[in-house]
Amino acid sequence: MHVPLLIIGGGLSGLAAALRFARFIPDVLLLEQHSRVGGLNSYYYRNSRLFETGLHAITNFAHPKDKHAPLNRLLRQLKIKRSELEIHQQNHSEIRFIDQESLSFSNDFSLLQSEIQTKFPDCSHGFIALLQYIESYDPFIPLPFISAKQVLNNYLKNDLLTDMLLCPLMYYGSAIERDMDFSQFVIMFRAIFLEGMFRPGGTIKDLLDLLLKHYATHGGSIRKNASVKRILHTNKTIQGVTLASGEEITCDYILSTIGSEETFTLLDEPSGIQKLPRLGFIETIFEIEKSTPLEHAHDSTIIFFNSAEKFSYQQPESLFDCNSGVICMPQNFYGLPQLPFKEIRTTHLANYDEWHLIHNDPFTYNKAKEHTAHSSLLIAEKILGNFAQNVVYCDTFTPLTIERYTGKKKGSIYGNPIKIKDGNIGYNNLFLAGTDQGFLGIVGSMLSGVSIVNQHILPRL
Ligand SMILES: Cc1cc2nc3c(=O)[nH]c(=O)nc-3n(C[C@H](O)[C@H](O)[C@H](O)COP(=O)(O)OP(=O)(O)OC[C@H]3O[C@@H](n4cnc5c(N)ncnc54)[C@H](O)[C@@H]3O)c2cc1C
Repeated sequence: MHVPLLIIGGGLSGLAAALRFARFIPDVLLLEQHSRVGGLNSYYYRNSRLFETGLHAITNFAHPKDKHAPLNRLLRQLKIKRSELEIHQQNHSEIRFIDQESLSFSNDFSLLQSEIQTKFPDCSHGFIALLQYIESYDPFIPLPFISAKQVLNNYLKNDLLTDMLLCPLMYYGSAIERDMDFSQFVIMFRAIFLEGMFRPGGTIKDLLDLLLKHYATHGGSIRKNASVKRILHTNKTIQGVTLASGEEITCDYILSTIGSEETFTLLDEPSGIQKLPRLGFIETIFEIEKSTPLEHAHDSTIIFFNSAEKFSYQQPESLFDCNSGVICMPQNFYGLPQLPFKEIRTTHLANYDEWHLIHNDPFTYNKAKEHTAHSSLLIAEKILGNFAQNVVYCDTFTPLTIERYTGKKKGSIYGNPIKIKDGNIGYNNLFLAGTDQGFLGIVGSMLSGVSIVNQHILPRL
């Protein structure tokens, strides 16, 4: 079998890339190792109910008239109507540093501005100046690492406000510890604070089905349960792939969305990329009875919290670190149809190596998962009010679960700390898209797939 374009990975970047390409040339084949697409953002069934593996909220909300906004550009490139997504905006979210300060924000940026003016009056001029700098900054120009922490400290001169602004942006998009590259900070600041967050009307399955429907309409092909074991190449030129089944497929171009190191493993070549610690995460879903009142959460959508004296975004030394994290209530979006259940989802930093040490001992591993869920519940109760007695189902994904289901080394949701912004990894007809290209989150990874197809592949065919 021979195809002009072969895409490895049916996550959101692979799906978007495949759909974009199929609009012009239907002869594209998408290979996904699992029986379901979606990658990091997929779903599973328990007790006859669908559970999402990710999807707290989609960043980059945009009003329909804002033609240049990333979300509207993405929909145009994929020829998907906004109405097909059924957009529901977040109610409002919060950054809560327990016993210190809290800041509310929503899709109306003036809320965050007025919160900062009231709670950090000495910083308001600095914040306005920082905002002007962010608005004029082009984060897509390749530059060496610039410390976001330092830039913020220069403008705000307040460690607490710096940490509070960094907390959501790090949790939703930083692959590196302790700091963030300023370009990545600008991308995430725009995506979360200036644009905002939303959810599609249905579940992640509905969004994935929508993409698959459009892809099929354009004549694109997909193979599930098709794991690529080797990429065949000579003299920096790709000939095709070998699947786990032994089948060979040849192609003119490959777009890999599985990560940079992961792609070099398939090439059987050293990547030459510097090895930096990869951040692991642990996520717990609590399904609770619908009538459960959450005393202190009101109708917040997401709470980014820190309970330690000093916020620390780094790989914990033990299995997990519940001192900070994300609490999401996925039912709290404007106009979402009422569901017969409520969910609370928590995310914390975790240490992949510590989980790996116990993974061969199911008793210890499961006990550790229970312990993590319990610790996460205690901190969530401190923030939201009591709900333990109303939990009807609970499930925890460790960094190992994430690695098993997505192939991401060390279960690192945000991939390799070193990003390859132009998607070029030194081969004539193989390009990289998705998480390791540096665009994170759902809209980011989809735009990454589309832009690499537009930039590197379509013009050559
Ligand atoms: C728990 C969790 C919560 C999240 N919440 C949000 C959120 O609320 N909002 C948001 O915007 N983002 C969220 N994200 C992040 C978002 O899901 C990712 O940024 C995005 O989905 C990345 O897409 P991708 O296509 O780059 O990578 P992936 O999703 O990792 O896709 C790669 C695909 O490649 C496949 N693959 C790997 N190796 C092979 C192989 N050898 N052969 C064939 N196929 C292979 C994998 O199975 C996978 O399907 C969350 C992620 C997680 C894990």
